[in-house]
Amino acid sequence: ARDQVVRAQKLEAVGQLSGGIAHDFNNILTTIIGASHLASLDADEGSDLAGEIEQIDIAAHRAQDLVRELLSFARREPGQPQPVDLSEITDEVTRLLRASMPPTVQSNCDSSGPMVVLGDPTHLHQIVMNLCKNAGEAIGSDEGLISVGFAPVKPPQGLIQRADGWVLLTVRDNGPGMSEDTRTRLFEPFFTTKPMGKGAGLGLAVVYGLVEEMGGLITVDSALGEGTCFSIYLPASSEQALSEGRQRQDMPRGTE
Ligand code: ADP
Ligand code: MG
Repeated sequence: ARDQVVRAQKLEAVGQLSGGIAHDFNNILTTIIGASHLASLDADEGSDLAGEIEQIDIAAHRAQDLVRELLSFARREPGQPQPVDLSEITDEVTRLLRASMPPTVQSNCDSSGPMVVLGDPTHLHQIVMNLCKNAGEAIGSDEGLISVGFAPVKPPQGLIQRADGWVLLTVRDNGPGMSEDTRTRLFEPFFTTKPMGKGAGLGLAVVYGLVEEMGGLITVDSALGEGTCFSIYLPASSEQALSEGRQRQDMPRGTE
């Protein structure tokens, strides 16, 4: 429990610090990208200069992606819990994955039918997406399978009984798995085993925070050479899922 308090404090401090820096940084990057675009118009096509300007542009966009990840980590809007059909989320994510992953990486959802949980749809999307992205990156250019599924479940230790019960969401891959050291550290902000510039190490810290906010629980099963399975326990809802286009009230920030 003490561990968790320390982790939460660390998350908050890191969040505030990085949020401020990331915002300014984003403005600087916008200037760089704008200027490199203008410069590219003046450079002769196919010249060394044009190539160098293109490299500036690629690097600046990469930096912008990382900054965006930082911002989404630091300045998270509080979620707006509502009944959400998990199958709509997993369908959408697996569809997006098929479009963005190499064809050697298959993805499927091995559950069907509606499964309503109580959560913020944007946050749920982010949870499933971050986990699947990591699975895809772990598989890399090899052949592999990412499998998403969900089912009703009895609450594990540490979670209360709820009248509406719990749902277990799983994201499994048959990639290389991870070392024990990685497994114990993977939810830490800025922990990454990926090369510099590839990963900010925030994906799972974000997921952890979002699951916690929903009152859920996330655990991981993984060993080197044996793939990885993330288990996410989410509060179920007996209400019908409301349609996606439902009007969201704008709540003022900081009302958590
Ligand atoms: P990032 O993806 O930027 O490195 P994350 O917080 O998303 O940061 O993940 C942290 C680390 O956890 C990764 O660098 C990787 O070592 C490990 N990891 C996460 N998911 C998997 C997975 N499915 N298979 C193997 N390793 C994983
Ligand atoms: Mg990641």
